[in-house]
Amino acid sequence: MHIGARHISFVAGDTVRDEIDRVPAGAGQGLNSAVPVNALAATMVLRLYNTRSRRKEPFSPRTPGVVKMYVCGPTTYDHSHLGHARSYIDFDTARRYLEFLGNRVAYVQNFTDIEEVIIRRAKEVGQEPLAYARYYIDCFLEDMRALNVRPADHMPKVSEHIPEITALVRRLVDRGYAYSVDGEVYFRTKKAKHSFGILSHQKVEDIVVDPAPPGTPKEDPLDFALWKKSKEGEPSWPSPWGDGRPGWHVECNAMAYKYLGAPLDIHGGGVDLKFPHHESEAMICEGAWGGEWARIWMHNGFITLEQEKMSKSLGNFVTIREIL
Ligand SMILES: [Zn+2]
Repeated sequence: MHIGARHISFVAGDTVRDEIDRVPAGAGQGLNSAVPVNALAATMVLRLYNTRSRRKEPFSPRTPGVVKMYVCGPTTYDHSHLGHARSYIDFDTARRYLEFLGNRVAYVQNFTDIEEVIIRRAKEVGQEPLAYARYYIDCFLEDMRALNVRPADHMPKVSEHIPEITALVRRLVDRGYAYSVDGEVYFRTKKAKHSFGILSHQKVEDIVVDPAPPGTPKEDPLDFALWKKSKEGEPSWPSPWGDGRPGWHVECNAMAYKYLGAPLDIHGGGVDLKFPHHESEAMICEGAWGGEWARIWMHNGFITLEQEKMSKSLGNFVTIREIL
């Protein structure tokens, strides 16, 4: 695709793009005949690429006929770009295809409306961070409508799920998977033995990390924040550990669990989310509920602009609004 002088291409992630296959061969021959769609679907085996196993696996939902699907949504501090468009079109297509096969798809996609960049940018323009984020959530919904991407069944915002998040953090502390230090709470990464490395495919003993700097509140450099102490002027909520706001990973667990329970049939997002975000979610699930978080991990690849990943943080993006 060419836009002006810039070259944009679609790239599969290093895990190969999400794929939906139909077998056996010839199953599609009824497409032009009078065979009803659901009779045709009954002859098909759906195979999905799973980032965890790095291969295509036969897929059937845990509850026959109902697919629980969670996809990580945007952090809303700017207009959405073509990389977002690609991701949400991919997952909307997967959802529609699963529905075509006769499933009911319970689809949840969140908004991260509390985060460092949101707070910083809102401050720069003299706005309240949640109102700033709300504006870009509305823009995202408008862009998705323009792209004919159907909204998810639930589109929860972090700011509206603080009680669920603090309850989950408390559960992790109670079960020994998290600890509080001076108003913050951290996850004990090495305790989640079954989930560590499942998506990044690395072993804990192979990881070389710089030693934690003196005075760090963490027990281990690999530990990550579940609850952050509030700073002056930042949005904050009361919690058993003091006023603060949630860390990134745990918010997805809390929101997905509220609407879908565990395990999810399909957990999706951009390939850049598989580590540390999705792997951390898997570890949080192991700590809180003791099982696997998702049966299929589905990741879409990037769009590149002049051979670099298109991303907000790199600043090399083309917004959906610019090209529609
Ligand atoms: Zn997420």
